[in-house]
Amino acid sequence: MKTVQDIPELRQQVSQWRAEGKRIGFVPTMGHLHAGHISLVELARSRCERVVVSIFINPLQFNQASDFDAYPKTLPADQQKLEAVGADLLFLPDTEMMYPEGQQNISRVSVPGVTEVLEGGCRPGHFDGVATIVMKLFNLVQPDIAVFGEKDYQQLLLVKKMVADLNLPVEIISAPTEREGDGLAMSSRNSRLSQQQRQQASGLHQVLLEARQQLHEGKMSIAQIEAEAMQALREAGFEPEYVSFRQSGDFQPMSGAGGEGRLLAAAWLGEVRLIDNIATQ
Ligand code: AMP
Repeated sequence: MKTVQDIPELRQQVSQWRAEGKRIGFVPTMGHLHAGHISLVELARSRCERVVVSIFINPLQFNQASDFDAYPKTLPADQQKLEAVGADLLFLPDTEMMYPEGQQNISRVSVPGVTEVLEGGCRPGHFDGVATIVMKLFNLVQPDIAVFGEKDYQQLLLVKKMVADLNLPVEIISAPTEREGDGLAMSSRNSRLSQQQRQQASGLHQVLLEARQQLHEGKMSIAQIEAEAMQALREAGFEPEYVSFRQSGDFQPMSGAGGEGRLLAAAWLGEVRLIDNIATQ
């Protein structure tokens, strides 16, 4: 696997592969790779002859400087994992290269409709930062397909909508959430949990499973189930931000158990913010 840090070298390699008629798959990440990320690379690998992975901790999408500063960095281990799974190229730009004019005056991409609520409501500016960096990376890597995890469900919807709205020539593939044995969704931020918090953390997934069960039992309204789930999270030691049932298609609030839906939640455990979601069926 080649590690490439500068843009001309990346463009040169991509052009060569394109000229050879190779299909290119792309997996953007922020590093500190775990089995969830690797499952995305495997999916890209199974569909493409060349796989590019990027590691870039994008300052534009962090609404808290402390979260950006504390984001874990484990490059040598990441490179080994990518090598082992058969990635062809690791693109590793630095902030100066991605934002040479600084972050204030850069052109930005906004994706209305799916970004105003939940994560967008809690993290102002986050989704513009995500859309902008994904657009930049798509323009640099020019992949045929790009793989995103359901773990960041709203982000997945954003990317699909941006690609449709702006006619980008890339196919977006989604991958299911990889979990630890106790149900905790794998996340780079999990390593910041203390031992005790790590034990509590599986409560987030448990509460989502219970809320889904209550939806199917049909004894409570959606609003009641959401409120109970918030309370259950508080009792399990979390500071929850939201628990919300949303329709899969348009991301509007669900009004009943029918149709395809998603149950999403965000909650703090100490200094660490965790998110998770499950299908409602
Ligand atoms: P990140 O490094 O957190 O920006 O994530 C990079 C990609 O990996 C995104 O598409 C995420 O949705 C995906 N991802 C993160 N955690 C998981 C997981 N537990 N299972 C599957 N995909 C994941």
